[in-house]
Amino acid sequence: MSVRVRFAPSPTGRLHVGNIYVALNNWLFARQRGGSFLLRLDDTDIERSTAEFAAGIEADLAWLGLAWDLFARQSQRLASYDSAAARLKQSGRLYPCYETAEELALKRKVQLSQGKPPVYDRAALKLTDSDRARLEAAGITPHWRFRLEGRRVEWHDHVRGAEHIDTSSQSDPVLIRADGTYLYTLPSVVDDIELGVSHVIRGNDHVTNTATQIQIFEALGAKAPEFAHLPLLVDAAGEGLSKRLGSLSIADLRAQGLEPMALNAYLAHIGTGDPVLPVRHLDELVAGHDLAKFGKSSPRFDPVELLHLNARLLHLLPFAEAQAHLASLGLGSVDAALWDVARSNVEKVEEVAEWYRICRGTIPPQVTDPAFAGAAADVLPPEPWDEGTWKSWTDAVKAATGRKGKDLFMPLRLALTGLDHGPELKLLLPLIGRDKALRRLRGESA
Ligand code: GLU
Repeated sequence: MSVRVRFAPSPTGRLHVGNIYVALNNWLFARQRGGSFLLRLDDTDIERSTAEFAAGIEADLAWLGLAWDLFARQSQRLASYDSAAARLKQSGRLYPCYETAEELALKRKVQLSQGKPPVYDRAALKLTDSDRARLEAAGITPHWRFRLEGRRVEWHDHVRGAEHIDTSSQSDPVLIRADGTYLYTLPSVVDDIELGVSHVIRGNDHVTNTATQIQIFEALGAKAPEFAHLPLLVDAAGEGLSKRLGSLSIADLRAQGLEPMALNAYLAHIGTGDPVLPVRHLDELVAGHDLAKFGKSSPRFDPVELLHLNARLLHLLPFAEAQAHLASLGLGSVDAALWDVARSNVEKVEEVAEWYRICRGTIPPQVTDPAFAGAAADVLPPEPWDEGTWKSWTDAVKAATGRKGKDLFMPLRLALTGLDHGPELKLLLPLIGRDKALRRLRGESA
């Protein structure tokens, strides 16, 4: 069977880094095995799913380069779920239950007070046809539970290794609500069967669903796919990400000006034990991908580390690959020479604006010692300038003023750039040019 994986977000919110960590691992797994990647929108919750969130999911994945080979929406596949449900009803695996939420809560309370696990007692299985007819005549519509086989279910998890769950300790899960809508469990299984999913790679918050889902696959006459449950990300302090998902949404990271590949490279490396490296193309992440590198412990997502990785990525980024991002920030007039000098001094592309201003625009004077700056101005060599100009000029300044080291360089840097840090002056000087250099050394805005 060929490899097919799926990323199955619900369009009930924005994607965040935890979602992309799962999506990326699916995508890399598919690419490495010559398989296909399905984007499935789990939009059966009509109240909370919106077209805007669905469009946001597609835009976020496209921005990251995580292209999908197939696309499905659960809201368009209800007929398949209905027919699977009908088969399960026919075989007696899906049975109607009439308890209200209050009755169920009371049952659980009694069980707990008797020291018993709060497992559904299957009272509905004992109802006769006439009991059911009476309840329905009284206006009660049933919800439907899947009858679990109380046994140990085992699977080999691609991340966690040998796993097992004994379903005799679980309640028969509700698959269909009284209003006829489906919970996530059955549609997911039906889709995985009908859309040919070979490997389910998802967060470990779904481990407890797995035994139930394996039994549903079998009850529908299908072979269960293979499973891999990734550990959930935590923040730098080791806390779950759920409280601050807003700030870690993909839309937000994009608006902050991060490179999509910084995020991809970061998420592909954390938790694997491999060093976090700046990688420029998704394809370069494929060969090293291995689900077995993940353990059960949660990878730490640290925005500061991500920003550092972004900076390291920019240092390697050729002008041709930076141009589109520069243009989107209104920095379309930055040229290759300026980019090559500035890229090693920025953490984000937008910071190139400052070096553009320094090299091509106007900055206020920063002359700390006018006599020294004037003497330096007097020995500025004629153009054309190149990388060697800085050395010949500063040798001349040294000879004329007797200064050396920091006392020589820092006032020149401040006068020429207005800053006490930045790229090497031998690279900046030819970009600034003689006219501006002369005026800045004389204390003029230029
Ligand atoms: N829509 C489910 C979720 O976002 C999908 C879970 C799965 O991958 O099976 O949690």
